Amino acid sequence: MELDSKCPTGPIETRWDRHCFQLKLVNPANKRKHTIIVVGTGLAGGSAAASLAELGYNVKCFCFQDSPRRAHSIAAQGGINAAKNYRNDGDSVYRLFYDTVKGGDFRSRESNVYRLAQISVNIIDQCVAQGVPFAREYSGYLDNRSFGGAQVSRTFYARGQTGQQLLLGAYQALERQIAAGQVEMHPRTEMLDLIAIDGKARGIVTRDLLTGKIESHLADAVVLGTGGYGNAYYLSTNAKGSNATAIWRAYKHGALFANPCFTQIHPTCIPVSGEYQSKLTLMSESLRNDGRVWVPAKKGDKRAPSQIPEAERDYYLERKYPSFGNLVPRDVASRNAKQVCDDGRGVGESGLAVFLDFRDATERLGQHTIKERYGNLFDMYERIAGEDPYQVPMRIFPAMHYVMGGLWVDYNLMSTIPGLYVIGEANFSDHGANRLGASALMQGLADGYFVLPNTINDYLASEKLEKVDASHAAVREAESGVAAVTKRLLDAKGTRSVDSHHRELGKLMWEYCGMSRTAGGLKHALAKIPELRERFWSDVRVLGSGEDLNQSLERAGRVADFFELAELICIDALERNESCGGHFREEYQTPEGEAQRDDRRYAYAAAWEFRGVGNAPALHTEPLTFEYVHPAQRSYK
Ligand SMILES: Cc1cc2nc3c(=O)[nH]c(=O)nc-3n(C[C@H](O)[C@H](O)[C@H](O)COP(=O)(O)OP(=O)(O)OC[C@H]3O[C@@H](n4cnc5c(N)ncnc54)[C@H](O)[C@@H]3O)c2cc1C
Repeated sequence: MELDSKCPTGPIETRWDRHCFQLKLVNPANKRKHTIIVVGTGLAGGSAAASLAELGYNVKCFCFQDSPRRAHSIAAQGGINAAKNYRNDGDSVYRLFYDTVKGGDFRSRESNVYRLAQISVNIIDQCVAQGVPFAREYSGYLDNRSFGGAQVSRTFYARGQTGQQLLLGAYQALERQIAAGQVEMHPRTEMLDLIAIDGKARGIVTRDLLTGKIESHLADAVVLGTGGYGNAYYLSTNAKGSNATAIWRAYKHGALFANPCFTQIHPTCIPVSGEYQSKLTLMSESLRNDGRVWVPAKKGDKRAPSQIPEAERDYYLERKYPSFGNLVPRDVASRNAKQVCDDGRGVGESGLAVFLDFRDATERLGQHTIKERYGNLFDMYERIAGEDPYQVPMRIFPAMHYVMGGLWVDYNLMSTIPGLYVIGEANFSDHGANRLGASALMQGLADGYFVLPNTINDYLASEKLEKVDASHAAVREAESGVAAVTKRLLDAKGTRSVDSHHRELGKLMWEYCGMSRTAGGLKHALAKIPELRERFWSDVRVLGSGEDLNQSLERAGRVADFFELAELICIDALERNESCGGHFREEYQTPEGEAQRDDRRYAYAAAWEFRGVGNAPALHTEPLTFEYVHPAQRSYK
C-alpha cells in the first residue's frame, strides 16, 4: 500500500495556508445536510465537536464518562506550549518547530510540525477569549515557564491544572452547541465498533453503559479523539478508563496503526509503592523548572537527604547536560534515572527513585513563590507519599505516561479508511519518537479547533456519500459482532479478575518493552503474550450482567484489546533495529549511553496493517524527509 501523506511542498512557512486554500469548501446551507460523529470529549474531541457544530454541521458526540468534562485531558497539569515569544527570550515559530523535530528524534513529519508551531499562537488567543484563566505576571501579561527540551520559556499554564482549565473552555463551547441543538451528546456510551460501508467510515456501534443497549449511529464521517493507550502497561499516569478500544477496532477494519512502540516514559512520577497499586501519579514536568534532580554519589548511601553533604551528591543531569540541565527532554531524563538506579544509587526503600529537591529554589525565591507555582502538586505529593516536599526532597521515578504511536493519518488527519479522521493522542501525531512536555495539549487543540475544521470539508465536498440506514448488512454484522464479544466475556466464568490478567500483561510489557528493550526480551514477550491472551479468554471472571452498569465488563472489553495491541507494540519495537527517542534498544546506543538512530534504514513511520489476531501484521512505511532540520545526533550537553 502506498502511504500518501498529502503533505504540501514548497516553502514550509506557506504550506498550510496554501493547502487550506486548495481544499474544497462546503457552503453553509450544505453543511446542515451533513452529520459527523465525534468520539471523545477530551481536548481533541471536545474542541473538534464544538468547532464542527459552530460551522453548522450536525454533530453526534460520544464519551464513556458521565460528563464530557471528565475526559482524561482534565488531568493535564503542567502547561501548553505556544511560540508567542512574550518573554522576548529568542522564541519563534521556527524555534518551536526546530525543538519539536529534534526532540522527537527526527521521526516526525516536518510539514505537520511546522503547522503545529504556527497554530500554537492561535490556540492561546482562542482559549483566552474563552476565559481560560492562564497564570499572569504582575503586569497582566500571560506568564510562561520552561519545559524540557527547550531553552526558552514558552509554556502557558494555569497553576498545576492547565488541562482542567483548557477542558472547561472546550466544554463550555461544546455545551453551547448542545444547548443550540447542533450537538447531540451521548455520555456513558462506549464505541465498540466502526461501521465501514463500501470502504468508507459511515458510523459506529455503541453500548449504553447504563442499560447495556447496543445501538448503531450513522453519519457521513467519523472522528476519533479517543486518547492514548498507555494503560496497556497497566500501571501508568493515565486515567484508569483510558483505553485503545476505538482505535483498535478501527485498526481491525483496515486503518493502519503507526509507530505503536513509540511510548513515553515520564521521568517525574511518584514511585510504585506496592504490588496491588492500580495507578501511578505524575508530578508535573514543570517542577523541573525549580527542582534539582540528584542521587547520592556513593552506592548504597541510605542517609536521610539532609544528612548528605553537597560534595557527596550527584546532580547527574546538571553534570552530564550542562546546557539543558534538569530540563533535558523526558526520554533523556528517564533513561538517566534508570541508569543511576541500576548503578545502585537509587533512593527510598526500593532503591527505585531519585530526589527532586526544592531546597535551593525555596532559599532563592521563598516558600510563598514555590507554593504559588506548584502548591496543588506539593499537596498531592504529600497526600500520597506522606512526606512534606517543602521540607524533604520529593522521591520520583519514571512511569508510563503517553503514547506517540496511534492510527496513521495524513496531513488532513484522515486515516487509511476514507472518512475516518483521528485527532489528539489517538493519532500517530507530530511528536515523532519522543514528545516534548506541554506539546500534547497544543496538538490536541490544534487538531480540534483549527486543522480538522478546515480539512474535513474537502472530504465532504468531494465524496459522493450514498444514503445508508440501519438495515444495511454491514451495520447488522457490526452490531452482532459487538453482542458476541460481550456475551463471550460474560460466559467465560473463569477464576481470575480482569485486573489480575491486566496486571500480568502490564508487568511483562514494562519489563521487556518499557524504558529499555532488547531483541531477546522482545522475543520473550512475543512468545508470552499469546499465552496470556488465551488464558485471559478462558479464565477471566466477569461478574454481573450485560444489561446494567457493569464496570468489570467495560474493563474486560478494553483489556481484551490491550492483549492484542501489546503484541503489535512488541512487534514494532523488534522490527525497529535502532534507538530513537523513547524507543531505546540496548543494542543501539552511543558510547555515552545515548539513543543511536539508524537514519539510513529507519527514517520512516512504520504503519501496520491488521491481518487477523495472532497473524503477523503487514508493515507499510512512510519515508520521512528532512529539508529544514537536518538529522543529527541529538545533543543537550
Ligand atoms: C497526568 C497527566 C498529565 C499531563 N499533563 C500534560 C501537560 O501538562 N501538558 C500537555 O501538553 N500534556 C499533558 N499530558 C498529556 C495530555 O493530557 C493528553 O495527551 C491529552 O489530554 C489527550 O487528549 P485527547 O483529547 O486526545 O484524549 P483524552 O483526554 O484521553 O479523551 C479521550 C476521550 O475519548 C473518549 N473515549 C475513549 N474511548 C472511547 C470509546 N471507545 N467510546 C466512547 N468514548 C471514548 C473518552 O470518554 C474521552 O472523552 C498529561 C497526561 C497525563 C496522564
